[in-house]
Amino acid sequence: MPAAFFGHGSPMNALEHNRYTKVWSDFGANIERPRAILVVSAHWYVESTSLTAMARPRTIHDFYGFPKELFEVEYPAPGDPQIAQEIADILKPISVVLDQESWGIDHGAWSILIHAFPNCDIPVIQLSINSKKPLDFHLELGARLTPLRTKQILIIASGNVVHNLGRIDWSKPEGAFEWTRSFDQASKTCMTTTPSNALSLREHPDYSKAAPTPDHFIPLLYLAGLAGETEESVDVLVEGFAFGSLSMTSYGIGTKDISARTTISAS
Ligand code: ZN
Repeated sequence: MPAAFFGHGSPMNALEHNRYTKVWSDFGANIERPRAILVVSAHWYVESTSLTAMARPRTIHDFYGFPKELFEVEYPAPGDPQIAQEIADILKPISVVLDQESWGIDHGAWSILIHAFPNCDIPVIQLSINSKKPLDFHLELGARLTPLRTKQILIIASGNVVHNLGRIDWSKPEGAFEWTRSFDQASKTCMTTTPSNALSLREHPDYSKAAPTPDHFIPLLYLAGLAGETEESVDVLVEGFAFGSLSMTSYGIGTKDISARTTISAS
């Protein structure tokens, strides 16, 4: 199975059709059907390492101030308690909470999945981001997920390389500030050459502006961990910016064919 990090941006991408959502649908249409999808979403940022383990995860609308039709979106994919247990076993000795009721499928997951897998028929499991752990824990946890790829489990990490809501400029729908470009470029150099060095990005002069809170940056570390583990080359699936202070840049491993196609469609 390939694995990917997608920049999800605004929840409105769930309803829109643009060059990012095209990459998500091309991705889903061009890979072998997974047995399950494991999503590491920026929006499940809690004080534990948890996996959703319910048979019927609910669709969570974890945002405010968006149109009513966005609150009506449902992504009724099943869960799979047995596969959640299988993943927890792979992560041992890290202790994992099997969550039966607190979470479900959040918009970091469903805004992408609704384009990538519109039939909602593949089991979805989410892995939380443990906010109490340092960045190196997440890079290492990403590497530990490697065996899932040979068990037909697709890993999707969903965040944004640059995510600073306090600096959003609504007059720049596709624009970027100088520091947004600079951090995004540094991340691209790192991801495509030495992903196992991704922790060095926190020394970048623009890191504190790019990731004033680390929740949207951390999912990138999961793909970096996976890529470092197998020394596979990382493909850039799409590049771009939104509202000045968001990067939409996305990466994949095991995605050579898909990236060739999406690069053409994005140009
Ligand atoms: Zn988000």
